Amino acid sequence: MAPKDVTTHPLILRLAQAVGPDHVLTSAEDRVFYSHDVYRQLETPLAVVRPGSVEELARVVGMATAEGVAIVPRGGGASYSDGYCATTDNSISIDTSRLNKISVNERDMTVTVESGVTWAELYDTLSKKGLRTPFWGPFSGLKATVGGSMSQGSVSLGSSLYGPSADSVLSMDVVLADGSILKTGSAAAANGTPFFRHYGPDLSALFTGDTGAMGVKARITLRLIKHPPVKMSVSFGFQTFEGMAAGMEAAAKEGVVSDSFGLNPRLQRAWLGRTNMKQSMDAAFNVYKTARNPIDGLFKLIRMAVAGKSFLDKSEYSAHFICEGVDAAHARSLLAAVRRAVEPHGIEVPNTIPTVVASMPFMPLYPIMGPAGERWVPLHGILPFSAVKPFHDKLTAFHQQYAAQMEKHNIVTAAMFTTISTTGFLYEPVFYWQDTRHLYHERYLPQDFLGLLPTYGENPEGRKLVEEMRAGIRAIFASCGAVHLQVGKSYPYMKDREPRNAEMVKAVKALVDPKRLMNPGSLGL
Ligand SMILES: Cc1cc2nc3c(=O)[nH]c(=O)nc-3n(C[C@H](O)[C@H](O)[C@H](O)COP(=O)(O)OP(=O)(O)OC[C@H]3O[C@@H](n4cnc5c(N)ncnc54)[C@H](O)[C@@H]3O)c2cc1C
Repeated sequence: MAPKDVTTHPLILRLAQAVGPDHVLTSAEDRVFYSHDVYRQLETPLAVVRPGSVEELARVVGMATAEGVAIVPRGGGASYSDGYCATTDNSISIDTSRLNKISVNERDMTVTVESGVTWAELYDTLSKKGLRTPFWGPFSGLKATVGGSMSQGSVSLGSSLYGPSADSVLSMDVVLADGSILKTGSAAAANGTPFFRHYGPDLSALFTGDTGAMGVKARITLRLIKHPPVKMSVSFGFQTFEGMAAGMEAAAKEGVVSDSFGLNPRLQRAWLGRTNMKQSMDAAFNVYKTARNPIDGLFKLIRMAVAGKSFLDKSEYSAHFICEGVDAAHARSLLAAVRRAVEPHGIEVPNTIPTVVASMPFMPLYPIMGPAGERWVPLHGILPFSAVKPFHDKLTAFHQQYAAQMEKHNIVTAAMFTTISTTGFLYEPVFYWQDTRHLYHERYLPQDFLGLLPTYGENPEGRKLVEEMRAGIRAIFASCGAVHLQVGKSYPYMKDREPRNAEMVKAVKALVDPKRLMNPGSLGL
């Protein structure tokens, strides 16, 4: 059914006056587009509003909630857990793309961004000054915003050393449901500026990972570090999942790896498919260059040759580690620690994959479709190291139980892994299935790219099976004590929560959003 016409809706007319008519989208196609995330579609909002300043954002939120209309924030729209999909059509989608100011304070080593700034924009601005944030973005950072990542929690670039996105925050300005602005961290003190997170209870923490249920982030201040001048990487192949997990755990515990990622056989083939011969030669040369001395370098190259240059092609697991140093000697010694830790579990292979990742950390969103144009959706859980093998064994048994049905409905799975600081192992199972594209794919991927891929007809049974299996995997994660980023409306955050903890979360929600109009349903609230 086409969404109803809202062009004469009194609130929409007033919002258009507040931000300018060009920044209130009311066409059916735009509203339907904003009802989709990477994975699926929920309710169609009344309109999409794009505030151009923090003051406009605060005014828009206050005006909508005064009329009982819900607010659903959207950053880059690169998530897939229903986070910015509305649960009610009596809602306004807030697109933060015009909130894009960046202000660097080199003296105090902080950067304050408006929430719609993308990680790629922030990285470019800071790199020119020889600076960086500790966590510096998800792989989706060409689209993903600082506000979106802070609201749902993100990992990848820098998080193996510095922890998830929230660990880089110092202070935030958050628009609450009534349109007021709350400051957190040192900026809330008399004469305070946003340079330090902790002064009494940590209010920033209430909003990191809230998926927009507590307020709309307007400004975020992050800590700066000097841009590490040298990056070196190393890759290992493993015969088994257990070998890879043990190798990644051992490397994480060294506390020297900035970025790490493990790939299962299917994803490894896909990533290797993106590299060419020159990159492989460069990678072999890199292994030689980063060894402790020329003899050690030659020894490593010979070992790789003996293992067979096609080791990675032979469907084994692999893990990739990037270390950053103040100079080459520093980076080399960190890499030596990784090699010592991982060598008992696997064999070193050319570091083609991390070399390519390091040269292009932010990727166009091509992976939102599978290599043969399939639909794609990942899910994930973060586990303590002791729970990784029990989870993997349960998941393997679960996949076997579904093998025949998956084959029948053209569904395949893959998996990716990373470690977060010295305590977390992120396990990301991924689904691909043959199904129709939707408006999201049409708008987010270039037409010439889409034109190269096959298309498929509706596959409602396959889609239903993917959803059923996602629920099953969430339950397996829960049985292993996993936690989740991107809670959105998908992960069971409030379910089975320790009662005093749940009461506290609900009390905070009641305080900041008494009418429950901020992204209803998010976090299970
Ligand atoms: C190809 C691809 C690669 C990816 N790689 C990674 C990765 O490496 N690591 C990773 O962690 N994730 C990854 N993701 C998932 C996702 O892109 C990230 O988690 C990213 O941080 C989402 O940011 P966004 O701006 O797109 O947020 P959105 O998807 O727009 O929103 C996410 C959530 O935050 C809320 N929100 C957005 N802005 C605000 C705001 N200003 N105030 C309050 N709430 C807000 C929304 O309501 C929603 O609940 C990837 C996704 C894709 C498609």
